[in-house]
Amino acid sequence: MKMYIDGEWVNGHGSGDVEKYSPTDGKLLYSFKSASKDDAAAAIDATYDAFPKWSEKTSVERSKIIYKAKELIEKRRKELEKIVILENGKINKEAEEEVDGVLDQLQYYAEFARKINGEIVEGENAHRKIFQYLVPYGTVVAITPWNFPAAMVARKLAPALLAGNTVVLKPSSDTPGSAEWLVKKFVEAGLPKGVLNFIAGRGSELGNFLVSHKKVALVTMTGSTSTGQSIMEKASSNMAKLILELGGKAPFMVWKDADMASALKTLAWAKYWNAGQSCIAAERLYIHEDIYDTFIRKFAELSKRLSLGSSASADMGPLINAGALKGIEQSVDDAVKSGAKIVIGGRRPKLSGNVANGYYYAPTVIRDAGQKSKLFQEEIFGPVIGAMKISSKEEMFEKANDSKYGLASYLFTKDLNLAEEAAERIRFGELYINMPGPEASQGYHTGFRMTGQAGEGSVHGIREYLKLKNVYIDYSGKEPNIPTVKKKLLR
Ligand code: NAD
Repeated sequence: MKMYIDGEWVNGHGSGDVEKYSPTDGKLLYSFKSASKDDAAAAIDATYDAFPKWSEKTSVERSKIIYKAKELIEKRRKELEKIVILENGKINKEAEEEVDGVLDQLQYYAEFARKINGEIVEGENAHRKIFQYLVPYGTVVAITPWNFPAAMVARKLAPALLAGNTVVLKPSSDTPGSAEWLVKKFVEAGLPKGVLNFIAGRGSELGNFLVSHKKVALVTMTGSTSTGQSIMEKASSNMAKLILELGGKAPFMVWKDADMASALKTLAWAKYWNAGQSCIAAERLYIHEDIYDTFIRKFAELSKRLSLGSSASADMGPLINAGALKGIEQSVDDAVKSGAKIVIGGRRPKLSGNVANGYYYAPTVIRDAGQKSKLFQEEIFGPVIGAMKISSKEEMFEKANDSKYGLASYLFTKDLNLAEEAAERIRFGELYINMPGPEASQGYHTGFRMTGQAGEGSVHGIREYLKLKNVYIDYSGKEPNIPTVKKKLLR
C-alpha cells in the first residue's frame, strides 16, 4: 500500500504497521505502513498549492477527467470487484452492484459540468447588481468508511473535484485497497499533480490532525456518529464546512394491509444486504398486531434459508472484522438478558472449509424487545433485527420517530392515506414506501438528528461543495449617494 502525495506514490512514514485480516477466513491479507502526520501535512500542502490552477479550470474541463476515470474504471471493473470482495468480504453480486454505484456516481456528477450556475440578483438601486458566484471551498478532506469502500469514495471525489476543490482522501484502514485502486484511475485519467492526494492509516491517529488543519476548508466524512462528533469538535478550530453522513437505525413498518410477499422480500434485502452493514439497513421492525406472528414466522423461515459464505452462490457474506463480530454477539446477549426472545439465529453459524474462521454471524430475528432496549436504540450494523408489535398508527409513528438517528425508514401499506400521513410525520431523511432502497444519485441522501449534517446526491449534494460568493457592482457611472458622507468633505 503506497500513499499518493503531490503526484508521487510513496511509502507511509507512520509508526507501526496496520494489519488487514480477511473477513472471509480471518487470515492476514496484507499489512502496510500507515501515513504519518508529516505525510498528512504534505498531502494538505499539495492540495493547497494545486488549488488555484485547478479551480481556474472550467467545470467542463474538469468533467472530462472524471469521464475519463469512469471509462478506465469500467474497462477494468473486475479488478475493483475483486479488491472489494477481498477486503470487505462482499458476495460477488454485491461487489458488482458496488462498482455499478461507482460508475453511476462519476457519470451523474460529471454531467453537472454545464449545470452549475450562479445567479445575478437585482440591486437596491437602478444600475446595481449582485453577482452570486458559486466557488469551490479549497482543500477538502474526504474520510470514508469500509462498508462501501469504493462507492463512498466515488460519491465524495466526483462532486468535490468537479466543483473545483482539491482533495486529501483518507479511507478506512479496513479497506484502503479499493480507494488506492480508484485513485490510480483518476491519476491515469490525467488529474494534475496535487489535486488528489491519498493517505491511508487509522482515523484515530490521523483524523484529528487532518480535520483541524488550518488549510482545510471542508471535511466530508461518512462513518459513525461518534466519529462525526469528534470531527465537529476538532473542526471548530478551523471552521471547516462539514458534510457528515453518520449512523442509522431504520424503522421498517408493516401495516396490516401490506402486501406481505413484497414486504418480506424487501426486508430480506434491507436487513441482509452487505450482512446488515449498511447505514440504511432495517434495524427495527414494527409490525401490526394482526399480522405480527405470521410475518415473523415467514421472515424467520426466509432467513433460515440464506446461505452464508464467499462463493458466487452465497446469499450473505461476513462482518468486516473480529471486533464487529464481538460487538454483535454482545448486542444479542444484551437483548436476551433484557427479556427479548430469539426466533432464529443468535449465534455464529457452523461453516466448514475456507470460511470456517471467517467473521460470519447467522441471520437473526429477535422478538418482543422493548422500545428503550439497546436493540431498538443503538445501531447494530449486522444481520440482526428486533421485532415489535404495534396496534395503532399513532404508536407506529411515535416509535419509529423515537430514535437519535434519522437516516432511512420503510413503510409497507396499501392505504394511500396512511402513506401520505407517514410522508408528513416520519422525521427521517429518507422514507421508502412499498419499495427497497438504496438511495439514488439524484436523491439527496441526508439524515435528521444524530445522523449528521448536509447530504450527498442531487443538485443539493453538489452544492455542498460550492460556496456562494457575492460581488456587488454599480455600473451607473454616477457618484454614490451616501448620506453619512457629506459632499463637502471630498472638496
Ligand atoms: P468509523 O466512524 O469507525 O470510521 C469512518 C472513517 O472515519 C474511517 O475512515 C476512520 O478511519 C475515520 N476516523 C476514525 N476516527 C476518526 C477521527 N477521530 N477523526 C477523523 N476520522 C476518523 O465508521 P465505520 O465503522 O468505518 O463505518 C460504519 C459507520 O458508517 C456506521 O455507523 C454507518 O451507519 C455509517 N455510514 C453512514 C452512511 C451514511 O450515508 N449516512 C453510509 C455508510 C456508512
